[in-house]
Amino acid sequence: MSIKENLLHIKHSLPAHVTLVAVSKTKPNEMLMEAYDAGQRDFGENYVQELVDKHEQLPKDINWHFIGHLQSNKVKYIAPFVHLIHGVDSVKLLEEINKQAQKNKRVINCLLQIYIAQEETKFGFSFEECEHFLYSEIYSQLKHINIIGFMAMASNTDDKQQIKKEFHSLNEFLKKHSAKNNKLTTLSIGMSSDYKIAVEEGSTMVRIGSTIFGERIYTS
Ligand SMILES: *Cc1c(COP(=O)(O)O)cnc(C)c1O
Repeated sequence: MSIKENLLHIKHSLPAHVTLVAVSKTKPNEMLMEAYDAGQRDFGENYVQELVDKHEQLPKDINWHFIGHLQSNKVKYIAPFVHLIHGVDSVKLLEEINKQAQKNKRVINCLLQIYIAQEETKFGFSFEECEHFLYSEIYSQLKHINIIGFMAMASNTDDKQQIKKEFHSLNEFLKKHSAKNNKLTTLSIGMSSDYKIAVEEGSTMVRIGSTIFGERIYTS
């Protein structure tokens, strides 16, 4: 199937309120343009340099999502144009995003990455840390960031019930806090392998790569 057919197939299966972020990391510009020509405008990248290059080379009406692990010293390269930063996993990083957003006279939308998986290796805030931060004095002083919700990755497992349980707990967390903070509207959960479960559990944004563009081949 072509990229266009893959996109249409996925779009068809998503409710209207769910945004599809096409994860194009490692893929060449020609493939992104195929998706663009089929109407796709939201693209997700994991590597800063690759994102900067693609932003320079591709149409200016693309919404660029940064979905990888962001290092503080690289925020400055994407701050002028990034649409949404998904994986914000520390207060230090938020402070740097705020600083760079201010320099660019922008307010940058961010999602806090929450740790829901069983694995030890995933980045992110725990529910408790996140809760603590959202009502902190520090947060109230960061005027150039806008936290619009949460992002997470489920455990890397075939156990669908486990994945469902993890997404469900995050959705409950969002509902609890969006009642007090109406900016919290976005739940970025769901990748190629688990987006259908994520949508059932309240996803408003899915990040899909290989199902659109094919498997990634990494070369070093
Ligand atoms: C690569 C990646 C995706 C997309 O993964 P697929 O399995 O190819 O759909 C989604 N989210 C994050 C954070 C990623 O790094």
